[in-house]
Amino acid sequence: KKQGKDQFTVFDPVMRESFQKHLEMEADLRRAVLRHEFQLRFQPIVRLRTGEISGLEALVRWQHPERGMIPPLDFIPLAEETGMIVPIGEWVLREACRQAAGWNAQRPADAPLTVSVNLSAVQLDRADLPDVVSSALEESGLPAHCLVIELTESLIVDHRPETLRRLHAMKALGVRLAIDDFGTGYSSLAYLRRFPVDIIKIDKSFVDDVGDEPAAAALTHGIIQLGQALQLSTIAEGIEDAGQLSELAGGNCELGQGYYFAEPLTTEAMQDLLFGK
Ligand code: C2E
Ligand code: MG
Ligand code: MG
Ligand code: MG
Repeated sequence: KKQGKDQFTVFDPVMRESFQKHLEMEADLRRAVLRHEFQLRFQPIVRLRTGEISGLEALVRWQHPERGMIPPLDFIPLAEETGMIVPIGEWVLREACRQAAGWNAQRPADAPLTVSVNLSAVQLDRADLPDVVSSALEESGLPAHCLVIELTESLIVDHRPETLRRLHAMKALGVRLAIDDFGTGYSSLAYLRRFPVDIIKIDKSFVDDVGDEPAAAALTHGIIQLGQALQLSTIAEGIEDAGQLSELAGGNCELGQGYYFAEPLTTEAMQDLLFGK
């Protein structure tokens, strides 16, 4: 447009290729929704003091027929851009609730597992979100307090007025809300007062250095204390070694997840972990 009306834009080969890839990927994604090419992985969330599994985070994967397993960060942005995150996210929610309810039914003597589901800003923009959540609970039989909705800081900071109403509508169902990747956003602490948050997830970037960098340790302990003062649970993300675990547990971080305990597991592997082979 900037080049004047007599000129037309010529795609250079690299641009053309990436544009074509984008279109192809979009068509693939539409087909994936119709053909149910998505899968869930479940990563245990562990009580750091005891090692007991208190819940699971559901993480989506795309099993592409030619390209193999595609991780979420490689297709969620496109899914958000095209609105396809709405049907994908709804499937994730229903499937996560269904699976968690099934596992809880198999261990009636134990405290019920929670299941955490990541929500995109695009889903929160939709007026029917509380109904979608409520029907996923109803259909699965999962008690509302066992469902945790994970939101990112940026989503909360950039919120529209309806967002807050939708969050309250979900809270009214009994669902709990977590702030994901805490500490990486716009660092506005004010929203912790205004939003009905129950859980803070300490971003992996703090956890990475908690064992050997005083600043990371100080910030991590500060977040944990903030959580305690506000009566929120804290979950440390991305725990990979025993040093990080002891630093976090010693600092009274309640919960954690990470490769040190388990990677995100297939349904079958999670079943084995919970109930043995
Ligand atoms: P997240 O919600 O912060 O999830 C944690 C990510 O860290 C996951 O990556 C998990 O596999 C990875 N992780 C866990 N423990 C460790 C560890 O010890 N070391 C390392 N290096 N990584 C660890 P994943 O599954 O690739 O997901 C990436 C992001 O994609 C998620 O970050 C979340 O923001 C998004 N995502 C995943 N599933 C969904 C979904 O169903 N809907 C939406 N909207 N977003 C999703
Ligand atoms: Mg998450
Ligand atoms: Mg996270
Ligand atoms: Mg993340």
